[in-house]
Amino acid sequence: MTRVLVAEDDPGISEPLVRALGREGYEVTHVTDGPSALSAALSGRADLLVLDLGLPGMDGLEVCRTLRGHGSTLPVLVLTARTDEPDLVVGLDAGADDYVGKPFRVSELLARIRAQLRRASGPEHELVQVGGVTVDASSRRVTVDGEEVALTPKEYDLLLVLMRRAGVVIPRDELMRDVWQTEWFGATKTLDMHISTLRRKLGDAGSSITTVRGVGFRMEKGV
Ligand code: CA
Repeated sequence: MTRVLVAEDDPGISEPLVRALGREGYEVTHVTDGPSALSAALSGRADLLVLDLGLPGMDGLEVCRTLRGHGSTLPVLVLTARTDEPDLVVGLDAGADDYVGKPFRVSELLARIRAQLRRASGPEHELVQVGGVTVDASSRRVTVDGEEVALTPKEYDLLLVLMRRAGVVIPRDELMRDVWQTEWFGATKTLDMHISTLRRKLGDAGSSITTVRGVGFRMEKGV
């Protein structure tokens, strides 16, 4: 049974949401403040976190940042009334996987939850290899010359997109769409930050990610 953790302090939102998730067959845990959200998320007894940003005790962004700081790869779907640009950038940088703006339709949120769970479960049995870098899509493991490299979910998704199409320049807006599922293409600073972390984590192999100025990025073949 798939377990969804809902962190939302507004009963007007949480009650219909928890009911709908139950009807869909999810096992739901509901918490109403930041510290409880964090400890429940870290307990490893959830497969996905639906996280309100405005939570008492600890802000949703802080919950997300702390969770990632502990190395958690739990998919996080943020609920926010704040959909203006700075908040979105900050949220993506804090490690959120997706956003749903309030007010939202429950059906829309359920679709986003399914998409995140699909991505997290990685049903693909695929091994992609470029130079010394290998991505095993079934286990989401990345190795460089046989050594495992720990990546965040977004860094992993980004690397996989680049590697699947090695040798081809992938435009920034495509990367934003494929990796962040956003039709909003403003957060390219987030993309640059993820690329630079990815390069660093890949060590020498990181130099095979080429910046094509004004267009996007390319994973070089056979470096
Ligand atoms: Ca709230």
